[in-house]
Amino acid sequence: MASLPCIVLSPPTGLAIDAEGRLDEGISQMKVWIDQDLCTGDGLCEEIAPDVFTLLDDGLAYVKEGDTVFATAKGNAQGAEGLANFDDKRLDAVVESAEECPGECIFIEA
Ligand code: SF4
Repeated sequence: MASLPCIVLSPPTGLAIDAEGRLDEGISQMKVWIDQDLCTGDGLCEEIAPDVFTLLDDGLAYVKEGDTVFATAKGNAQGAEGLANFDDKRLDAVVESAEECPGECIFIEA
């Protein structure tokens, strides 16, 4: 039986207004997190979207935003408390990661 990807999507606009009031299509409200309790550590997410996902020495995947890795081992919240923002350019890769994730533990929120 096919499993459903762990994706929570409310309608994203993909659009935002910057500080000067200009329409900025590069700003996203999308966030992603991983439930490490379900992660198998196969690394598919990191292969598909290395800008957003990374595996640490414990063999589990974590989300990241720039140089910030959302893992307690890195001094940051993880799991549902450790959400990373990502921009629209990475949406397809993040969704593909969630769809391919064998642990069904990648959650996308708008
Ligand atoms: S694809 Fe899913 S199960 Fe595999 S490492 Fe990434 S989060 Fe973990």
